[in-house]
Amino acid sequence: MTFAVGDDVLYRDYRGNGQLIGVMPQRVIADDERGILTWRPIGTPWLFRRTADGRDRREIPFHARHTVEWRLASLTWTGLHVLHLFRPDHAHSVWSMFNPDFTLHCWYVNLEAPPARWADDDLAGVDTSDHALDIVVMPDRQWQWKDEGEYLERVGHPDYWTADQAADIRAEGERVIKDIEAAAFPFDGAWLDFRPDPAWPVPALPATGWDRPSAINELI
Ligand SMILES: [Mg+2]
Repeated sequence: MTFAVGDDVLYRDYRGNGQLIGVMPQRVIADDERGILTWRPIGTPWLFRRTADGRDRREIPFHARHTVEWRLASLTWTGLHVLHLFRPDHAHSVWSMFNPDFTLHCWYVNLEAPPARWADDDLAGVDTSDHALDIVVMPDRQWQWKDEGEYLERVGHPDYWTADQAADIRAEGERVIKDIEAAAFPFDGAWLDFRPDPAWPVPALPATGWDRPSAINELI
């Protein structure tokens, strides 16, 4: 299965318990041996979980997140444009995050389950499950781990990862760090000259079908 350049696909994020927590429409820029390259500009409509009274997950202590009621809220992506590279068979994606003037703000390495593609008659997408731990890489390739606390507090929880799986998650990050420090792909300057066609519409969130069953087989 290859996605058609110019189509919108849905990036969907699941928790280990099968709960869908985020849906983002993104425009396909390329789909080739380097991965699935997609574009999520400022202004893109998306869905992300909030409590019933509108609070973000970061306002809820981890131990309380299983007792509050969640719903998917309609949001608008703000702040930075994202050129999002899914890497089949790799447990991470790499987001080139651009300032509004298209200078590089940072790369964001999102550790996550390898992307699972799907396509129906009129919708297509990539499903994954976030691994909490991330790496933020500045344009000079200075890097730092992000959200290590959230990753650690999930170790051993039935909805997340065992200690062995947690070690696999961190090992994936350490492999990426070698590429960062070597200025290897995709930290080699790939796509830093990317500019969207001003005629492109903002990716569209479909009214229905975004909640089709998950295509994920493995969560780690
Ligand atoms: Mg993450």
